[in-house]
Amino acid sequence: MEPKVYINGKLYPKNEAKISVFDHGLLYGDGVFEGIRCYNGNVFRFSEHIDRLYDSARAISMEIQLTRDELKDAVINTLNANNLKDSYIRLIVTRGVGKLGLNPFNCSESQIIIITDFIQLYSEELYEKGLSATIVPTIRNHPDALNPNVKSLNYLNNILAKIECINAGATEGIMLNKDGYVAEGTGDNIFIVKDNEILTPPTTAGILIGITRNVVIELANEAGMTVKEEQLTRDDLYNADECFLTGTAAEIIPVVNLDGRKIASGEPGKVTLRLLKKYQELTTQSSA
Ligand code: PMP
Repeated sequence: MEPKVYINGKLYPKNEAKISVFDHGLLYGDGVFEGIRCYNGNVFRFSEHIDRLYDSARAISMEIQLTRDELKDAVINTLNANNLKDSYIRLIVTRGVGKLGLNPFNCSESQIIIITDFIQLYSEELYEKGLSATIVPTIRNHPDALNPNVKSLNYLNNILAKIECINAGATEGIMLNKDGYVAEGTGDNIFIVKDNEILTPPTTAGILIGITRNVVIELANEAGMTVKEEQLTRDDLYNADECFLTGTAAEIIPVVNLDGRKIASGEPGKVTLRLLKKYQELTTQSSA
């Protein structure tokens, strides 16, 4: 069966799922999106993702033509039409068709696109052994220029960082913020463990407040561990006992090497593996 893609209320075969070249989503990256997972027929943290999408849209003064419930139904219908129980869902809202000028208010209605597919960012081996990362030269967008908490279609900041990390021979790039503190990965949040404390940069570090990040904080709390939100320096990362990244697509992945230096023993740490196990238990539960 050919995969079907939802565009504005209709399902199209993958090869016929097309939007206008005059859409400001394409012309200017003017739009917002979410990456969501469906595990065993349950859309994971569905409301949180939908709420973040509407917040991102509001931050860029863009109306979404469906209510939250209608949009959720559209996602479910697309999953069903594709007969998918385990899937990566890309939910995109573009500004719509406009003229060759910036003015977003000349655009048609915003366009809603739902792609249901699969994603595997890293090999199984990296989940077991951990990945190598590097601190990249490009800093995370200044929050006063483009707030990283708006999940916009303009990911050039992250793509530049990704290019730098690939060129440096690493699997993931860690971005610092305008003040030189650790912000996040190119598409994931970062945590370290030091002296039995779990630490992660605060929301004020100019990060996307990841939904997986929030889940990991909940899981740690449930297990009797606290997570401190603290400004982290590059030295804090080099001297960490453990380090891991979190994201909807990546889930939880250990980082064992940074800028060519081993993190502690160079193997995934105990706390990381414990949280990874708990995360897997949660995502395989029916009411996740
Ligand atoms: N930071 C960035 C820059 C991201 O793009 C993402 C999502 N891919 C995350 C963090 C993680 O967010 P979430 O856990 O909500 O997927």
